[in-house]
Amino acid sequence: MSTPDPVAPIAEDRRQRVEGLFRLLSEGAPAEELPEAAARVAGAIDGVALARHIRALAQVPHHAVADEAAARAAGEYAGGVLRETGLEVVEVPATHRGVTHAAYVATVPGKADGTNAVVLVAHYDSVEGCPGADDNASGVAAALEIARVLPCEELALDVVVAVVPFEEDPGGLAGARAVAQWLSEDGREVVVAISAEMLGFATDEPRVAGDRGNDLLLVGYPGTEAVIGTLVRAANAVNPGSMRGLPLPQVVPEVERSDHRAFHDAGWPAVMATDGAEFRNPHYHQPSDTPDTIDPLFHLRSTQGLAAGIAALALQG
Ligand SMILES: [Zn+2]
Repeated sequence: MSTPDPVAPIAEDRRQRVEGLFRLLSEGAPAEELPEAAARVAGAIDGVALARHIRALAQVPHHAVADEAAARAAGEYAGGVLRETGLEVVEVPATHRGVTHAAYVATVPGKADGTNAVVLVAHYDSVEGCPGADDNASGVAAALEIARVLPCEELALDVVVAVVPFEEDPGGLAGARAVAQWLSEDGREVVVAISAEMLGFATDEPRVAGDRGNDLLLVGYPGTEAVIGTLVRAANAVNPGSMRGLPLPQVVPEVERSDHRAFHDAGWPAVMATDGAEFRNPHYHQPSDTPDTIDPLFHLRSTQGLAAGIAALALQG
């Protein structure tokens, strides 16, 4: 007799709160004309490369402290792919619980003066015992592809793509905080920081009321109405019905769950793009979060939508 895989639990009080949030999600205004450069960028995302990155990153558990060598290998893989784009890549050291890993930060230059930037951040560490295909090889893979396709002459703002360690550790976010501090010390202003946090799981069997199971969710701190509007419209112009957004009127625990929090704490607008974590994915933080559970088409559409949205923001200046 075999034991079934454990399934990510959902506490009842959290289920009720999240079902309330799902009711507030909005597709925003109908998709408008997307700038040609943004559509081009989205169209250049390579689904085969996304799948290859997930397989490379999610072979084994790679917790930043418990599996230090595996986490280092994941970071070095991501840093190497970023370097292959030809972009300038800076390694920003981050230390947590006596362990140091690098955050890899690539800058896609815009034609403005370089002060203002859109930040895309994704953590490359996993929880212990979990290969971390959805959480968060899917987010890192998207960041790597977006960094590859984004460079174009029309961008006004810089886009900073950061793959960071130490998200999956209580009291962590040391990687994202190091990047936020590095930007701040450099005199940069962040127009919005977007955390790519689990972008690859879709299902026909939603776990909570209100989840469609097949769209990407964009949840933002208060004050992110305008950027969420731009991101959602761009994603839905590329793939209709693929993204819903929720700029929150007040801070709730669900919006604080990823690296974008470090940028919020630094005083900048911050949002998280997610498939819903345990509220959708039963493999969340389980040994079963493997590459085979990723929906390649959903992951491609999620990445295309984010790419289009980020380009739209950077084109606006
Ligand atoms: Zn995560």
